[in-house]
Amino acid sequence: MHPITNTEFQEIWERLTKAKFNTNDGKPLFMCYICCSQLRRSHQLMKRAMKAEELLTAAINNGSELPRRGNAN
Ligand SMILES: [Zn+2]
Repeated sequence: MHPITNTEFQEIWERLTKAKFNTNDGKPLFMCYICCSQLRRSHQLMKRAMKAEELLTAAINNGSELPRRGNAN
C-alpha cells in the first residue's frame, strides 16, 4: 500500500477530483498499487490533453488551418 498524504498522489487526486484531500474525513489514506498505477496514467493523459490543447491553440493563433477530423476515421 502507498501512502497518499503529501505525495504526488495527493496532488493528482486533488486535481482530478477538484476536491481537497482531507486526512480527517474518514476516507482511506493509502492506495493499492493498481490504483496508484491508474492514477498515474490518468495524470499522464490529463497532461497530454493539456499539452495538445496548448499546441492546437498556438497553431490556430499562428494562422494554421487544422483538419476538423482526426486521421483515424
Ligand atoms: Zn486500489
